[in-house]
Amino acid sequence: MGARGSQGNDLSGTTKITVCLKHFIGYGAGINGKDRASALIPENYLRQYYLPPFTEAIKSGALTIMLSSNSVNGIPCHINKYYMTDILKGELNFPGYTVSDFSDIDFLVDAHQVAHDKKEATKQAILAKKQIVGTNITVYYNDVRAVGKFCEEFYNRAQEEFQIRYIKSNISSVVKSDANDQLLIRGENVFTGKLFEDPSDLIVLAVGTEPPEGTEELANLLNISTDPNGFLLESHLKVRPSDSSVKGIYIAGAIQSPKDIPSSIAQAESAAAKSIALLTKGKVDLDPLVVRYNKDLCDLCRLCENVCEFNAIEIVDDTVNIIGANCVGCGACAAMCHTNALEVPGFTKEEVLKQIKVIMDKKKDSPLIVTFLCNWCSYLGADLAGTSKIQYPTNTRPIHVMCTAMLDPSLVFEALFNGADGVLIAGCHPQDCHYISGFKKAENRYESITSMLEELKVNNDRVKIISISAGEGQKFADTIKEFSENLKKLGPISKDIKGIQAK
Ligand code: SF4
Ligand code: SF4
Repeated sequence: MGARGSQGNDLSGTTKITVCLKHFIGYGAGINGKDRASALIPENYLRQYYLPPFTEAIKSGALTIMLSSNSVNGIPCHINKYYMTDILKGELNFPGYTVSDFSDIDFLVDAHQVAHDKKEATKQAILAKKQIVGTNITVYYNDVRAVGKFCEEFYNRAQEEFQIRYIKSNISSVVKSDANDQLLIRGENVFTGKLFEDPSDLIVLAVGTEPPEGTEELANLLNISTDPNGFLLESHLKVRPSDSSVKGIYIAGAIQSPKDIPSSIAQAESAAAKSIALLTKGKVDLDPLVVRYNKDLCDLCRLCENVCEFNAIEIVDDTVNIIGANCVGCGACAAMCHTNALEVPGFTKEEVLKQIKVIMDKKKDSPLIVTFLCNWCSYLGADLAGTSKIQYPTNTRPIHVMCTAMLDPSLVFEALFNGADGVLIAGCHPQDCHYISGFKKAENRYESITSMLEELKVNNDRVKIISISAGEGQKFADTIKEFSENLKKLGPISKDIKGIQAK
């Protein structure tokens, strides 16, 4: 590429004007297809496609370069030290001037919102163009994770290229030096075990990201589950990462968890696509697992109304009204209903009882464990144990339920009184519960079950509840092994229930 053109070889002439390269960099790479829009440019694309034209033009003598107004990978080009100082000045040895449209300084305040005012914006832009010489940076950390594409490379680059030191440490205090006003950071180097006291000019505490203010109110208003840290919880981390626990409400970005810009955009695109699919269809397909109501059996005790967290039950004119569009089929109401007026198709008490009966009719193992596994986590965890060929005793018989909340305590007693030596209830970890607090409801019922067993003088160690996720195949196998050993020590169930059965 010849860059001389109107610039020529001698700029002192009054008819000469410098060549200006535009725009550095990614001006036309906007993710929405428009010029000047935000762009995402991976390092390999940058080097393969975007830098070569500039490299050649600089080699040919171009002396000015205009900065792009957009942001690339979340950083406005006007304050991007990596592009301007490290690449343009450091790698390409650009000897000329960068040129900026002054409205781009306004952009830093108004559009990119990286500066409070124009003064701050100008300062950032100037700082980005200067190499800060002689600064030693140390990161004192407990744990470092570089998750995401090119993040590990970025972490390595921070150490190798920018000489940033990372010290795994326990920091005890920050104090002011007696000799001067310098700050001293004190702590212990975890790897060497040595105590240190490092002088520092500036100490920055990197705190964890928290959900934005108002997230809790929003979650309560929309009935969306949150994780233990208060972020909105996705329906399923692997297969429904942009669905919330409420149908038709999708989530994207840092309201779900701290994440980088590419991940936020990917999730936002997924949420947008799902919203469009839902709207263009013009109707909502109901899940077949909607609870059924039998008015003839109902005594209007209203217990079901209070247990449903999905606003799927209302009692109007002495009738329980099931709002099918809201019902997720968790079965918590059916387990609560003492008259069996509510049932989830495919998971009725009658159907589960039949499964228990078949298991007991074929009982050969001792001790025999009946295991109730939730659909979303524990069933998959047990499956993983099998597909991973993890060894565990063969004396367990799984019964699949959608949620452990649908487990009526009477089913546990049916299993024990028909010959099961132990019952394991396995569900999601509470924060992963597909049905907001399904596992917590099951835990509450477990408390009632063990109290009743105590009253009946049946050893309550025969019933166990545990959280097992889809990825915890080993935990499932270990739980079965340990539970089997404990049940062996307790002996057969017949010993505990002989007297009760006789009565
Ligand atoms: S819990 Fe059962 S009996 Fe009570 S109101 Fe609901 S459906 Fe009717
Ligand atoms: S099955 Fe679950 S979501 Fe449906 S009505 Fe019952 S408690 Fe509500």
